[in-house]
Amino acid sequence: MRKNIVAGNWKMNTTVPEGVQLAKEVVEKSKEVPAEVGLIVATPFTHLCPVAEVLKGTRVELSAQNCADKEKGAYTGEVSVGMLVSTGAKWTILGHSERRQYYGETDAKLVDKVQLALAAGLKVILCVGENLDEREAGKHFEVVKTQTENVLFHFTAEDMKNIVIAYEPVWAIGTGKTATAEQAQEIHACIRKVLAGKFGAQVADDTTILYGGSCKSSNAKELFAQPDIDGGLIGGAALKSDDFIAIAKAF
Ligand code: PEP
Repeated sequence: MRKNIVAGNWKMNTTVPEGVQLAKEVVEKSKEVPAEVGLIVATPFTHLCPVAEVLKGTRVELSAQNCADKEKGAYTGEVSVGMLVSTGAKWTILGHSERRQYYGETDAKLVDKVQLALAAGLKVILCVGENLDEREAGKHFEVVKTQTENVLFHFTAEDMKNIVIAYEPVWAIGTGKTATAEQAQEIHACIRKVLAGKFGAQVADDTTILYGGSCKSSNAKELFAQPDIDGGLIGGAALKSDDFIAIAKAF
């Protein structure tokens, strides 16, 4: 059985004290969320250690937002998977559209990053999603299918146990424009079909697929009610604990 998850992507927001405070509030309010819903906060690198202290012994898991594509060495400014693990992080987001768009993250680079993350014992939230031009040209299924295949077809059914997929249409991220529940559902179903074709029906059925893109408490219920939507990757609304928890309560 796949798990329902709500993950907050804080992006490049909050100072360390603000992040620690936000994490404390999420922990406190997590009691309101059904126990079977997984809760994750993805903080900036600088926040991982102090937030790990806050999350210790709680149900809220810690994630990074990226990792280096090399194991270690002379790569100034990069943060390795080993460093992430040493902070207490259990997850990393990879392939977020902002990283693809602004930092030249390619599918090939993502294969290396996913490989390193899994080898270090980190779980991965892999983001896929089409941009507005691709959606308007009717290429959304093709784009998401290709991104999924380009990265995940390098991995095994066993690896898939530690990989969650987040479908995030780029035109819906931070824009206030949410994909309709039907638009999201049909892409999620397509991703699951791609997984079934490669890894078999069981793996496809067991893989958690999150929706991301202006998800908020007012639309989460309808989105999460779709058969192939297993939760959300939340940006803006994850920066207020009440909003984040209200989304997690939408199951
Ligand atoms: C995100 O960037 O992962 C995201 C979903 O952002 P927002 O919720 O702000 O659209």
